[in-house]
Formats: sequence, C-alpha cells, structure tokens
Amino acid sequence: MKIICIGRNYAKHIEELENERPESPVVFLKPDSAILPKKMPFFIPPFANSIHYEVEVLVKINKVGKYIDKKFAHKYYDEIGLGIDLTDREMQSKLKEKGLPWEKAKAFDGSAVVGSFYPKEKFDLENLNFQLIKNQEVVQDGNTNSMLWKIDELIAYVSQYFTLKKGDIIFTGTPAGVGEVKSNDVLIGTIEGKEAFNLKIK
Ligand code: ZN
Repeated sequence: MKIICIGRNYAKHIEELENERPESPVVFLKPDSAILPKKMPFFIPPFANSIHYEVEVLVKINKVGKYIDKKFAHKYYDEIGLGIDLTDREMQSKLKEKGLPWEKAKAFDGSAVVGSFYPKEKFDLENLNFQLIKNQEVVQDGNTNSMLWKIDELIAYVSQYFTLKKGDIIFTGTPAGVGEVKSNDVLIGTIEGKEAFNLKIK
C-alpha cells in the first residue's frame, strides 16, 4: 500500500508557514514503512532537530481506481480516520529552499501516525470537526469545511497520476496550529470529540 499526502489544503495553515496558495493540490508520498506500528510510541529520530505534528483527516481507499471522476469518488472509500503527518520542519525548510524533494523530512520511519477508522456514513464529511490535543491543550482545531479541495476532489485529482489501490491511505492536509513535539509529549486526536489516537513521544 501507499500513502498519498496533500499539502497546503487549508488557507490558515498556508499563511502560518508563509507558503504560496497553490493552483492545484500539493501532493507527496510516504512509503508503507512510514507507518508507525499501532500502540507504539514515536521515537524522535537521531537526525531530527524539529519534528512537527500535523493532524489530518485520513481516507482509506477500498478498491482499485484510476482517472476517477469526482462524482464517483465517494464509491472509492467507506472509511475515514485521523492521523498525524509527522514532519522534520527544519529539514523540510532546507529542502524546500533548494527545490529538493521532501521525502527525508516527511517519509521517514514512523512519520505516518494512523489512528482508528470509522464508517464514513457516521459523519458529515463536509463539516467534520477534528482536533489535536497536546498535553491536554487543544493545539489544532480543524473542520473539513475549510479544505481548499474536498475529499472527492482530492481523489479525482490524485488518481490522474497514481492508480489508487485497496488499502491506500490519503492524508488530506493539516489545518493551522502545527508545532513541535518534544519527548514525553502526549498527542490525542479526536473526530467529533471521539478519540481516534493517543500517541506518546519518546
Ligand atoms: Zn501534512
């Protein structure tokens, strides 16, 4: 399976990183080795100076598809979830400056935190509240109604380039409020108030 990530999908997050608003979705991949095993803490890797959290709504693809039309995109997923796109921000900034690929900053082992998945029918996907709580303080408070590209548009877009396969996961971008993690932090993600993951940083 593969992980397809969307960058710059929330206007306020684009502003906080002083990025340009893209004309089309920013897309990058993480390999399956990036998935943090369930219930494992995240160990800050030795090379990293500034690991940031980015809480994101996840979409789990349920069948093979290519050139998926936006109006049929809803047939390609039954479940949504919540996760964190862990990012070495300092390294990413250096790579961005030089115009180099982001993988070392975005796709390292453990960088994809994947929480629980839920049947999509349980939620209003165009008005879905989600939060990241760090050490009992809400640090990211998002709603999918502020996405620049909605889930179905993202599926249509990325499937022009990558054949989607059953089990693939799309990270749909992070809202504002990203920040650094330190050892002993505890990060809890919630969808509509329900805990989707609980991550310890070591
Ligand atoms: Zn992200």
